[in-house]
Amino acid sequence: MNNKQLQFGRPVSGLICLRFLTGRRRLKDLLIQKDNRFCADCNAPDPKWASANIGVFVCLKCCGVHRSLGSHISKVLSVTLDEWSSDDIDAMIEVGGNSSANSIYESYIPEGYTKPGPDANHEQRAKFIRLKYERQEFLKPSLRIVSKKDNLPSSISKGTTDTLRSTSGSQHAGEIVQFIGRLKVKVIKGTDLAIRDMLTSDPYVILKLGQQTVQTNVIKSNLNPVWNEELMLSVPQQFGILNLNVFDYDMFSADDIMGEADIDLQPLITSAMAYGDPSMFDNMQIGKWLKSHDNALIDDSTVNIVDGKVKQEISIKLQNVESGELELALEWIPLES
Ligand SMILES: [Zn+2]
Repeated sequence: MNNKQLQFGRPVSGLICLRFLTGRRRLKDLLIQKDNRFCADCNAPDPKWASANIGVFVCLKCCGVHRSLGSHISKVLSVTLDEWSSDDIDAMIEVGGNSSANSIYESYIPEGYTKPGPDANHEQRAKFIRLKYERQEFLKPSLRIVSKKDNLPSSISKGTTDTLRSTSGSQHAGEIVQFIGRLKVKVIKGTDLAIRDMLTSDPYVILKLGQQTVQTNVIKSNLNPVWNEELMLSVPQQFGILNLNVFDYDMFSADDIMGEADIDLQPLITSAMAYGDPSMFDNMQIGKWLKSHDNALIDDSTVNIVDGKVKQEISIKLQNVESGELELALEWIPLES
């Protein structure tokens, strides 16, 4: 028995807590590694999802395809929302990130073959991801028959045999993105943001919904910036989460992360849809996004009809950062207006 086993043989609660924290820290460290700041499959920036058994970080769109492969091929976890076991984190670290995983899974991409980019449609993306992980077409030929090697993700050997049994469940292939409305996001202000330069930061906010990304202006040297900027996004039918990131603008190196938050659009959109034409109603509350331990809300956030418009004010505490709060106002804009 080695020292490590002895040490963790009878963990007390404090130790478990410590292990959990260091686990998240290790995951975070891996995520900020340069090659992991872009999706392993389509190169979209800031992937927030991972396949724990394959060992890659991927974007929300590619994550959807990974999920459709089944967890026996790709075990999908959210970097920010899911609880990770030590085994999952160890597996990710063992692979060593997107570059080293791709050096295995993409080592034999045929000449002239183009990987899908961040703007690829679902069909192109799904086709590539299936070829890459399910059929393992681009794997070094010798790896396909060799049994599991220690430094390779387990799915490489396992996936090959599973492929023979798996049915092609590609019910999403050919899906066309349809928009159900638009979202106006007013980024109002930040408070007590984190310091990333010597004494201050140059913050800006990036919002992501599906494949769309919009951002505010950079406010120089200000930890309590006031933007009051309105950003527009089209909302697809499968709208998912609105992801918010605050960055410190840096002219000479990669911009530093100053926190993030996931915004649940379900309360706003569901209640807006339920009420239809808001101009038919007086001012009233029609929905609510509740504060909980696993979201970024500072207080419950209500959805209201205000002067014939559906609006929601949101105050969030930025996540994965030492400090910082942000105020936003959402407005739902139906298609016919
Ligand atoms: Zn991607």
